[in-house]
Amino acid sequence: MKMCIACGMPMTSIGDYPRLDISKNYCKHCAREDGSMQSFDERWENLTCFMIREHKMDRIVARETAYTVLKKLPAWKPKR
Ligand SMILES: [Zn+2]
Repeated sequence: MKMCIACGMPMTSIGDYPRLDISKNYCKHCAREDGSMQSFDERWENLTCFMIREHKMDRIVARETAYTVLKKLPAWKPKR
């Protein structure tokens, strides 16, 4: 089973992949309409909005939390 490199979600069914393309290593939530992976900024903004909505977080706190969460994932680890 693969894990989305951009948000950490386990991808358990074909429906979790962007456009049902299981060769991808990111999930449909992290893909754009055309199936390409979102940029860090897009993903960050989406996750921030999600946290505000789901957890009633303050925007500043949500942004910081989202940043911390995303930076732990393989897609966004600092390149060395
Ligand atoms: Zn994802």
